[in-house]
Amino acid sequence: MNQSMYDPLSKRAEEFISHQEIQETLAYAWENRRNRKLIEHILKKAAERKGLSHREASVLLDCELVDCNQQIQELAQQLKRDFYGNRIVMFAPLYLSNYCVNGCVYCPYHKKNQHIARKKLTQDEVRREVIALQDMGHKRLALEAGEDPVNNPIEYILECIDTIYGIHHKNGAIRRVNVNIAATTKENYQKLKNAGIGTYILFQETYHKESYEKLHPTGPKHDYAYHTEAMDRAMEGGIDDVGLGVLFGLELYRYEFAGLLMHTEHLEAAFGVGPHTISVPRIKRADDIDPNVFDNGIHDDIFAKLVACIRIAVPYTGMIISTRESKACRERVLKLGISQISGGSRTSVGGYAEPEPEDDCSEQFDVSDKRTLDEVVNWLISLGYIPSFCTACYREGRTGDRFMSLCKSGQIVNCCHPNALMTLKEYLMDYGSEGTRKIGEELIEKELLHITNDRALKLTKEHLLRIEEGRRDFRF
Ligand code: SAM
Repeated sequence: MNQSMYDPLSKRAEEFISHQEIQETLAYAWENRRNRKLIEHILKKAAERKGLSHREASVLLDCELVDCNQQIQELAQQLKRDFYGNRIVMFAPLYLSNYCVNGCVYCPYHKKNQHIARKKLTQDEVRREVIALQDMGHKRLALEAGEDPVNNPIEYILECIDTIYGIHHKNGAIRRVNVNIAATTKENYQKLKNAGIGTYILFQETYHKESYEKLHPTGPKHDYAYHTEAMDRAMEGGIDDVGLGVLFGLELYRYEFAGLLMHTEHLEAAFGVGPHTISVPRIKRADDIDPNVFDNGIHDDIFAKLVACIRIAVPYTGMIISTRESKACRERVLKLGISQISGGSRTSVGGYAEPEPEDDCSEQFDVSDKRTLDEVVNWLISLGYIPSFCTACYREGRTGDRFMSLCKSGQIVNCCHPNALMTLKEYLMDYGSEGTRKIGEELIEKELLHITNDRALKLTKEHLLRIEEGRRDFRF
């Protein structure tokens, strides 16, 4: 492939993720890893908060100058504070089915695995799981399913979404359902949009086409172009919040980083809006999967640098970290750019309502952070963060470019901060343990002082009182 084929506007995967462009980017970044003049110039540009190109960001990722690496960390922290304040959005995954026809070599749901228990939730089981999640305090879910047109057709996913939105147990409600299912057709994306989903999430796994094909030897997911072009079809189907991610450990992290940023540049060029979120999963041990057989595992220091460099390159894109990562690792990267985390997660099909028996295990991977949601909320508050159960933006139509332009103008802070405080208050009233309630109430009092707009402050205080009286679901 020659370089002239690289085209961020193209709708062809191999042109907007050009292998040659990535290789040239990596060579350029490596050559310039100690080029102080260039690195300082890129850092200056990054400080203007307009983001960086994949080439510029790749130079920062490779940078070997100690003081500049320190500046990268500081800038990431600064951008994180300026755009996201100290709010951290909470969510939980809900696994619907692990039937899968694909052959992904890193995932225990691969078709040939005879050992893992295969399960698919009935609507009654979905109800039980969702009630258990509501009773923990969750308001936002990410639905997960294997790819299986017979067992998990789109109609099944749509029925589950309908069931989930319809469940109101005590004060509980799932107010935003994000969906992480295999690449599908534009028509199916339209159906998901009409069902009221929030973000459509699909991990690329790897941007390296040759590796991708080896890692996905069989099944529909083998088709690199169909998978890589999925976000285009999702956007054409009307979903304007999409979530990217790669599974770190499969390929060279530098390659994935450049690919990820080229994908965001493509979405911006072709649709005028970049991804809503970027996830940064790393491969974990699972039923018949040993993460050590993959050669490209990354150390925590590199992982932290990746998070910081993504934060700097795309300051307006939310970043998600799951319970794949340990408490210590999550604590480290929260500062550097993460804006959403899961808590109290189960990666099995069923398991929230009652734990799975050990001999009937359907888990996708081992979680490292096994704390309850309340423990995670308590920990976040002690670290000075506001755990936010807010789902307002998408319910108020602030999605896609409307969300991005609000975010870029800095105005999003005027809604998000009070919304975070009000949804935290709901959590504390309905689900918080005594200790969490105590430190949470103190945090809310302290954080109210940061609302500068008089009207917003007055309304927030009024709503907080109403919440104490039993009313729910206020939002700006
Ligand atoms: N089947 C859908 C698909 O193909 O995109 C849904 C995704 S799957 C339920 C969610 C994600 O889990 C995958 O995209 C993959 O990146 C990740 N995953 C699979 N195996 C994993 C493992 N062993 N450790 C960590 N993450 C894993």
